[in-house]
Amino acid sequence: MPSLKYQAGDKVMGRWPGSSLYYEVKVLGYDAKSRLYTVIYKDGTELELKEQDIMSVTSFQQRTRSRSRSNSRSPGRRRSRSRSPARTTRRSSSRTTAAAAAVATDSTPSSRGDKKLKQAAEIKISPIQQQEKKPAENNSNNKHEKKEENNMASKVNEADAKVEVDSEKNLGRYNLRRRKEDGDSKAAEAKPEEREERSSAAPPAAAAASTPLDFGGNIGALVLMLFLPAWVLFLVLQVNQKDPSLTNLPTLPPLETFWDPQALGFVIIWIFFQALLYTLPVGKLSEGVLLRSGRRLTYRTNGFFTFVVSAAVVAAAVYQGADLTYIHSHFLQLTSASFLVSMLLSVYLYVRSRSAGLDERALGGNSGKVIYDFFKGRELNPRIKEFDLKFFCEMRPGLIGWCLINVAMALAEMKQQKLDAPSYSMILVNVFQLIYVVDGLWNEEAILTTMDLMDDGFGYMLAFGDLVWVPFTYTLQANYLVSHPNPLSLPVLTAIVVLKLVGFYIFRKSNSEKNAFRRNPADPRLSHLKTIPTATGKSLLVSGWWGVVRHPNYLGDLIMALAWSLPCGFSHLLPWYYIIYFLILLVHRDSRDMNACRRKYGSAWDKYCRTVRYRIIPGVY
Ligand code: NDP
Repeated sequence: MPSLKYQAGDKVMGRWPGSSLYYEVKVLGYDAKSRLYTVIYKDGTELELKEQDIMSVTSFQQRTRSRSRSNSRSPGRRRSRSRSPARTTRRSSSRTTAAAAAVATDSTPSSRGDKKLKQAAEIKISPIQQQEKKPAENNSNNKHEKKEENNMASKVNEADAKVEVDSEKNLGRYNLRRRKEDGDSKAAEAKPEEREERSSAAPPAAAAASTPLDFGGNIGALVLMLFLPAWVLFLVLQVNQKDPSLTNLPTLPPLETFWDPQALGFVIIWIFFQALLYTLPVGKLSEGVLLRSGRRLTYRTNGFFTFVVSAAVVAAAVYQGADLTYIHSHFLQLTSASFLVSMLLSVYLYVRSRSAGLDERALGGNSGKVIYDFFKGRELNPRIKEFDLKFFCEMRPGLIGWCLINVAMALAEMKQQKLDAPSYSMILVNVFQLIYVVDGLWNEEAILTTMDLMDDGFGYMLAFGDLVWVPFTYTLQANYLVSHPNPLSLPVLTAIVVLKLVGFYIFRKSNSEKNAFRRNPADPRLSHLKTIPTATGKSLLVSGWWGVVRHPNYLGDLIMALAWSLPCGFSHLLPWYYIIYFLILLVHRDSRDMNACRRKYGSAWDKYCRTVRYRIIPGVY
């Protein structure tokens, strides 16, 4: 690179994306087409930087010295500097960067236009001195980590240091990728053409699109959009057949049977009723995770309260003579009405996402490909004022509706089988799934750290999933038992209950462990757990449940799914559909998450995978 300012192999200072912080990096190369330098940080992170974001070490030091001199005149600044986070002892350099960037992001609104203060912050929280410290490996001290982050936040605030951040601008400008020599690098690396697109001065929509396409892109999304409703229809028709075996496929009923205004009315009333309960100023306000914009959203986590009120209202309606078996007899019409609602919602979500800011869009659903983005969801947290559409749909109408449908199926079973009480199989299915839903609502806050809430945009995939898939296919076992009784002996019943409890224990413990850790890495109850630091500032749990397999929560969930199908017996495959589907879903979800985490955490993720070898089932998968 003869005419270039920096040569391959040069040690220079590179700006960290999303912040004004500079780190020592090594120049790896230069791409004349994109006019970007590829540099590597000490933790192995590779970035593509513009020349203006690179400085020679000498000029950086001169700049640091001259600013230190001018800063030393101000007592406030002196105090801040002496307690600079760069002086802390245990943080890895890259983690400091990210945490500082996060702090910086928080301070963005007040910092705009304040160039002087911005430059002061560059010096005061400069991570260059930190680079001398070796990154902590396993067993990093969580308490310390949190304290240091807090320290840093307070020191930066104390000194009124403001850092100008425009993370979206940076997303468009930088290309973050792992070192090539890290194993299995193909999955994480962008294709050359994608890399080029991202690193050039891309238009805003492309700038935020930084993850590869799932589900086979546009075509895959289109196929899924058509297949999923067709599959729901198949299940709904099949379960009503006397012989629901795969060799006896149902015939399509006349089109007019799908449409029932009354059923649509009930679906709309149910959704509005749930929305009303959601908006009541009752229950806790919980904070979501830190967003790319540097903001945290608050959520009204009153799911358990809404469940109790809903149950009371439904019980009162039944007492007044409402016939819940209507749900069983009009299942097809209720399904198509919900499908219509989910479709309209998806269109609304797509249209409104066009005016969403770049930092409000999900990285995964912002490809510029209309069908894919419509399916995947573009806007991360669409809200109407404080009403969070995604959170509401994820946790309320479908989830509580699932329990309502199950109860209706129990009543339909009694009516159809002429029973005084539901069968044991029906009771097990009802109670097991009730526990699952109530637990989800009781621990509603935990959903804020799941992929759906953190990463996925709100589009057709989640709208259809929440409003159609969950209530109308997860109730299949109860629906099946209405006309296909399966008596259970006491030992079998006991064994199924034990299985369910084991699954539930693993599921709950592992989800709570990760949720508690993500909310407060310094939680004293977790201080015995080993962690791996990552370049983003977050650590990964490597012992406890998350040291057994990489997705212990999926393991627990799958065991529970098995316990839900067993009460239906082995006469037909249909009631086993849930566990088969769930296995496919979780295996795919696991690989989506693995790729996302590999992109997020780079070599630290590979280290985690080497330490925790199995994904979901210990010793098997
Ligand atoms: P997880 O709750 O497992 O979340 C995955 C995220 O956890 C990762 O992206 C990463 O995010 C973080 N993480 C991964 N490994 C570690 C680690 N070692 N230490 C700390 N954090 C880690 O995924 P899901 O959202 O898929 O699942 C949530 C629950 O919902 C599960 O129990 C699942 O079974 C259930 N579920 C149920 C469904 C149903 O239909 N019944 C459908 C889908 C899920 P980061 O590091 O950014 O925090």
